[in-house]
Amino acid sequence: MSDIIRLLPDHVANQIAAGEVVQRPASVVKELVENSIDAGATKIELYIKDAGRTLIQIIDNGKGMSPLDARMCFERHATSKIAHAEDLFALKTKGFRGEALASVAAIAHVTLQTRRAADELGTKVQIEGTELVNQEPVQCAEGTNFEIRNLFFNVPARRNFLKSDNVEFKHIIDEFERVVLPHHDIAFRLVHNDQEIYHLVPGPLRKRIVDVFGKNFNDRLVPVTEQTDIVALDGFVGKPEAAKKTRGEQFLFVNNRFFKDAYFNHAVAAAFEHLLPSKLFPSYFLFLEVDPKQIDVNVHPTKTEIKFEEDKAIYSIIRSAVRLGLGKFNITPTLDFDRESEFDLPLSMAGQTPVVPEIRVNKDYNPFHVQNTREGQFSTGKSSSGGSSGFKSNGFSAALNNAGFGSQFQSASLDELWNTESVNQEQEEEKSIQTQIGAESVKSLGPFILKGSFVVGSVPEGLLVFHYRRGYERMLYDELMRGFIVNPLASQQLIFPMEKKLSKQEQLAWNEHEKTLSRIGFNWNWEGQELQISGIPEILDESTVLSCVDKILEQLQMGILDKGEIAHTVLSQIAFAGSMSFKIQDNQDAISGFISRLFEAEEHTFSPSGKRIIAQITNEELFQLF
Ligand code: ADP
Ligand code: MG
Repeated sequence: MSDIIRLLPDHVANQIAAGEVVQRPASVVKELVENSIDAGATKIELYIKDAGRTLIQIIDNGKGMSPLDARMCFERHATSKIAHAEDLFALKTKGFRGEALASVAAIAHVTLQTRRAADELGTKVQIEGTELVNQEPVQCAEGTNFEIRNLFFNVPARRNFLKSDNVEFKHIIDEFERVVLPHHDIAFRLVHNDQEIYHLVPGPLRKRIVDVFGKNFNDRLVPVTEQTDIVALDGFVGKPEAAKKTRGEQFLFVNNRFFKDAYFNHAVAAAFEHLLPSKLFPSYFLFLEVDPKQIDVNVHPTKTEIKFEEDKAIYSIIRSAVRLGLGKFNITPTLDFDRESEFDLPLSMAGQTPVVPEIRVNKDYNPFHVQNTREGQFSTGKSSSGGSSGFKSNGFSAALNNAGFGSQFQSASLDELWNTESVNQEQEEEKSIQTQIGAESVKSLGPFILKGSFVVGSVPEGLLVFHYRRGYERMLYDELMRGFIVNPLASQQLIFPMEKKLSKQEQLAWNEHEKTLSRIGFNWNWEGQELQISGIPEILDESTVLSCVDKILEQLQMGILDKGEIAHTVLSQIAFAGSMSFKIQDNQDAISGFISRLFEAEEHTFSPSGKRIIAQITNEELFQLF
């Protein structure tokens, strides 16, 4: 029998490679823009027709190519970027495989015009489906100009697989965003069907983000930076109130290369934990710099997945840097959920016999009765104006800042803030309207209860609306957490143990955290893989135990739950349950007391489960209604 193995002809091999590199027009955009960046361009223009089906043209002012290179660049594995295998481990360029242009040329009509600065004449090369059609000297600008026409002209299956122009163009925008963000020092222009979509001038990262995603991003960005031996981290995260229902603006870059990484993504989400409801996603633009030897960009042909040698350490660095960034902007709770050490007792308690845990939810507890308050800790709005103004100038102004108000409230007293006799002009107007409609009581408008769910109060800037059950949930939670940090929680024994079958991984994770779980008040036995819960935190309602355990397991399985977070999960459940029946008393003292007490909490804009407690309606928004 004769030999049957043959080498594939070039054009077939290129077409196969093209299948991996060029999935859609957006892939071409990505590859070509990256080449322009690698060529040192400071200005890159893109002209697209019909979402790239008809034309993708890219013009750069980079270093251009020699006549021979202009032909060579379409050969497979033709690259100027690596010469030796070792170069692979110290990559500074975006491309290195020498595959992109060969792939594109295999499935489109390509015209290249390019000229180096030193050359008088440039070169024009035309290629159709790997066939060289024409090469000639040409007068052209310095730099490189690629025109890619009729993508997939010879691969009907691919062509038919393309989605609508809208979808394909959206992919192009995605690629465009991923490349213009790290290269904010390069000017970019994107034109689609003769319409200019972006015109980006060089500038700092913050400006680039705002230019791409809109003006209102400007005051939503919180800087994040961290410098360690393993990684340098830089960039921005969006404030919690800018979070979205969809994973929109989430960008990770390593050495200025966009990549996707569920694990690091989780690190950011973990930093936002307790600040966002689980259904909302924070925006972020984070740039990692690592030694190229520490990463492997080779795992994926289009290189959006990257392997990190130190991924665990980088996870922690990202999480703590983001948290720190948020904390600096007074957004995160200061409770230290991150402590990896044991829960250490305060020094003053060393040597003492641990006391029986004392945390209880007192159903009759009303934080808004002045006599219930611990002296000096908080007071009602009224009495606070007479002296201890410590928390007001921190808590309240921070809340106002968080709620989007300016810092002009730094020194305002609560009485002033709730005073409707403001000289603010818009308010005067507002009042005269109200007087006209004869609502006498409106004049003395203080904070009031709305719909049994909200407390509404006016400040010169507009209205603040509080979801008071959530506010109460936050207060309960803080109280529980304060207690928990000092003492283990009390446990109540169940007459009939609750049973739950766990997977092997869940069981391992549970055992790994057994100390914390028992400190919270859980007692249990194992029957094989069945968890038999015989004791539960005393303050936890039996009916909520299993859902709480589910939540804990869910997070344990991700393998990154620390002690503080388990405590948080359980305590927030308890606080939630404890707040359900809460009703605020309908009188000014109680309501003002509620507000003061809420602002005493470090974190008063979000409930422990990340739901919003305070919202603002600005005067502008009010006026827009009319
Ligand atoms: P890679 O980028 O992996 O090297 P490509 O197929 O994308 O492979 O490009 C092949 C070569 O063509 C590059 O290494 C570079 O030398 C050259 N090249 C491509 N685009 C440009 C450009 N816009 N300006 C100058 N040279 C370019
Ligand atoms: Mg390339």
